[in-house]
Amino acid sequence: MKFQPKASHFIDGEYVESIAGKTIEVIYPATGETIAQLQAATPAIVEKALQSAAAAQKAWAAMTGTERGRILRRAADILRTRNYDLSVIETHDTGKPIQETLVADASAGADALEYFGGLAGSLTGEYIPLANGDFAYTIREPLGVCVGIGAWNYPIQIACFKAAPALACGNVMVFKPSETTPLSALKLAEVLMEAGAPKGIFNVVQGYGEVGSALVSDRRVAKVSLTGSVPTGRKVYAAAAQGMKHVTMELGGKSPLIIFDDADLDNAISGAIIGNFYSSGQICSNGTRVFVQKGIKTAFLDRLSARLITAKIGDPMEPEVNFGPMVSERQMEIVKAYIVKGVEEGARLAFGGRQLDRPGFYLEPTVFADVSDDMAIAREEIFGPVMSVLDFDTEEEVLVRANATEFGLAAGVFTKDLSRAHRVAKEFQAGTCYINTYNLAPAEAPFGGSKLSGVGRENSKLAINHFSEMKTVYISMNDLRAPY
Ligand code: NAD
Repeated sequence: MKFQPKASHFIDGEYVESIAGKTIEVIYPATGETIAQLQAATPAIVEKALQSAAAAQKAWAAMTGTERGRILRRAADILRTRNYDLSVIETHDTGKPIQETLVADASAGADALEYFGGLAGSLTGEYIPLANGDFAYTIREPLGVCVGIGAWNYPIQIACFKAAPALACGNVMVFKPSETTPLSALKLAEVLMEAGAPKGIFNVVQGYGEVGSALVSDRRVAKVSLTGSVPTGRKVYAAAAQGMKHVTMELGGKSPLIIFDDADLDNAISGAIIGNFYSSGQICSNGTRVFVQKGIKTAFLDRLSARLITAKIGDPMEPEVNFGPMVSERQMEIVKAYIVKGVEEGARLAFGGRQLDRPGFYLEPTVFADVSDDMAIAREEIFGPVMSVLDFDTEEEVLVRANATEFGLAAGVFTKDLSRAHRVAKEFQAGTCYINTYNLAPAEAPFGGSKLSGVGRENSKLAINHFSEMKTVYISMNDLRAPY
């Protein structure tokens, strides 16, 4: 099999196999073919990974931040030189078009490694003057063994977004990729070793939810960073709470995208396309509730349809293809059921809605118009190429409706009115907001959700706080008085 790795797991600097685990079939979503077969970790493999990580942590933390950063930046360079090969793996694992994976996966992961590698040497505590010459200082310390658990939509990017800040701070990580996309995290482990990372600081174990669960509940683990759905987030957060572990939760969403009638319509339609159909709609922060002000509704729908017809759907390895299959048959069936539900609930199918008559898991880009707030397609995360268009009259009304969701990952607004843009951004109940753009997540800026969409932030200097803690040291410069 063309994409078969040397072994399923990467522990203590080398590939490790265990045939006793459950089989994980890796399927190419464009054809349905099996491209690799891996084994889920057994308890013995999980133990080996945690032991190796725990043993490696002290020496890694004892290196200077500059030394750790140099290794991360070297890893970023190696990822960039191998970007094409890594993109081919990612396209076969996820089904995303090669024109996407070339620019948004390993390369975004490299950005994170470079950014946190650059920060590593500047991580410090502070000096705090107190009365009469006394003082305190703080020491920024790593948390220890961190666990990263990934979703299947951006496999190597997610692995890097978690590993880079964790390692920069002097932590070690055991990473479990999604069972749907297990391949590229192994490559990241290889690259880190080639860049000079000591053995054991980044171990990869494969498996289903139970392997994730075993990692989260292990007493040696100090922190868990999960990217996944809200139901999984609830379980992982609860399990982490038993050991009072730190958590970062990057979870799902049902984000609003508001288009006012003064917006540049072509830009707004570009935003709606990027925010609904990139990666076949399998992006957590997608603006899937598109609120369009009534006066421009017809123009919006007409021009949107005219542009969607030009989408090049097909073999994701073809450079000009810009719309690929869904990640799995299961995910496609979930999305198809939502399309049926939308029709049943009375929404108007304005574009697409069908599975393509070809091998693989292809659905057309799909647009529902005349959607109302109470429909399931407007309330629940679909995680596929399905846009719901809702009408609105006023700013006050649309803000109330946009915020009337239990999720709070992202939100966007298109308007030429500067004051209104900032007013709306201020009112959004969401962790990541966009004005006249959509779906950016660069290494330099915080990314994450509020409400049910998550806890903590990835990327930016803030991620450092989520992977380290402060020890305070008090010093007396004076004689100490006691009451007796
Ligand atoms: P999922 O919740 O099914 O699985 C996520 C990961 O958790 C997988 O690796 C899975 O094996 C693991 N897991 C499952 N049960 C577990 C348990 N009990 N303990 C520990 N680990 C467990 O999600 P998915 O289907 O892989 O990904 C899609 C979801 O991820 C969507 O909801 C999407 O919005 C979300 N997502 C969020 C972000 C973000 O940054 N906020 C990014 C990408 C995806």
